Amino acid sequence: KVRVRYAPSPTGFLHIGNAQSALFNYLFARHFNGTMVLRIEDTDQKRNVPHGEDSQIANLHWLGIDWDEGPDKPNPKYAPYHQTERLPLYHKYIKQLLDKGLAYKDYTSETELRQMREAQRQNGEPPHYDGRWYNRSQADQRAAEAQGLKPSVRLHLPSHHVYAWDDIVKKKVSFKSDNMGGDFVIEKSNGMPTYNFAVVIDDYLMAITHVLRGDDHIANTPKQIAVYEALGITPPRFGHITLIYNPKTGKKLSKRDKKTLQFISQYKAQGYLSEAIFNFIAFLGWSPVGEKELYSKAELIKAYDPNRMSRSPAFFDQHKLDWMNAQYIKNSSVVSLTNRVFDLVQEGESESAKRLQQLQRPDLKRLISQVTQIYQREVYKLTDIMDQVYFFATIEQQAFDYGLFSQFSTDAVNAILKQFRTEVLKVSPADPIDYNGLIKAVQIDTGFSGRDLYFPLNVAFAGQTNVPQIGNVLKLYSRKTIINLLDQALA
Ligand code: GLU
Repeated sequence: KVRVRYAPSPTGFLHIGNAQSALFNYLFARHFNGTMVLRIEDTDQKRNVPHGEDSQIANLHWLGIDWDEGPDKPNPKYAPYHQTERLPLYHKYIKQLLDKGLAYKDYTSETELRQMREAQRQNGEPPHYDGRWYNRSQADQRAAEAQGLKPSVRLHLPSHHVYAWDDIVKKKVSFKSDNMGGDFVIEKSNGMPTYNFAVVIDDYLMAITHVLRGDDHIANTPKQIAVYEALGITPPRFGHITLIYNPKTGKKLSKRDKKTLQFISQYKAQGYLSEAIFNFIAFLGWSPVGEKELYSKAELIKAYDPNRMSRSPAFFDQHKLDWMNAQYIKNSSVVSLTNRVFDLVQEGESESAKRLQQLQRPDLKRLISQVTQIYQREVYKLTDIMDQVYFFATIEQQAFDYGLFSQFSTDAVNAILKQFRTEVLKVSPADPIDYNGLIKAVQIDTGFSGRDLYFPLNVAFAGQTNVPQIGNVLKLYSRKTIINLLDQALA
């Protein structure tokens, strides 16, 4: 029975790279009818950030990733799911390894370690722990204790040993024990297990069958296999997912790539739909058979095939993301888009949302819904809809380029706008105006139609020649605004 896990460290917020690991574990679990576990790797307490965990969980939920077991859904057989609550378990296995002589206490101080590495650097050797506390006498240990030194615990690596595995993504991978930096720390001097140790104990005790994670972890895997071997446990299968690369620099996406959004919360705030992000990330490091690119979550679960994970870098393609998002927006209902835009405005996490919020329009939802109907097929992001709403809501403060009228004869423009003004004033202020009907009337009265009729109206009412449905845009304005815009254009 397949059991996979996503194991975030609350040392930051949900990054697109984290989301990629979470998503492939999720697809793996769901495709094989397995169990998805969420485990919080919180032992590096100095690096944990406030709300790191809550915010990662909230963003996973937003993306549509859920799990069957985790801090919020404990299975008594495997709980708890925070590493800091599992310390006695790690200590138990550390003791086992110490008792068997497979691990040992290391009293080397930080200063001494630095000196060791410095000497190695000068000799042209790669940095490594030289094993100076392996097999030391009881007396040496007592002397170190007497000096008040706190030991770390290191796992002893056999020499000339090969750690090899058949990686789900990379196929055959192997490391030589002699090139792994020497015996490595499994418990820090403060009593906390290291990542490479805790992860093994947890994956073992939680009965994890497949470990899928970013390939930045590939050099950790032989260390973890060394722990499995020392404990006499069969390791799970490993798969190292290709990282995401910036196509402009050809390097791994890093926090310094300012132009690319890094965190899932930013994608949300900038108006990407969670379904589009899910689809997009699924194609970073994996591809289905065929040309089809728009896949719903259910389709991805069905089509997912771990044998089609890519070994080469996944390049982040902003145009593709925007295209995909536009497709999802086109295919959404007006009601659902309206609700999403409205909620984003309330959350106020983007400039577009903030300035719209500041307008305090009691009819905001209606405006959003109307603009969505008009612009749903034209926009890439939900923030584009907000920006259109803002534009129309503040139309009287917008600077118009009336130079655009010069493509038409002044007489024609004047005739159309004046006739429009007359038609508006004919309708009693108590009655609603049917603007599309009114445009028809102007067409009949003036004899202008098509582009000759619409372009001048578009310029007068929206400051541009191309507006999808000017008759519907006009419904966003008060009658006073319409008269003001006409007077301004006619002046
Ligand atoms: N806590 C580790 C990380 O965030 C998990 C790595 C793993 O999946 O083993 O990178």
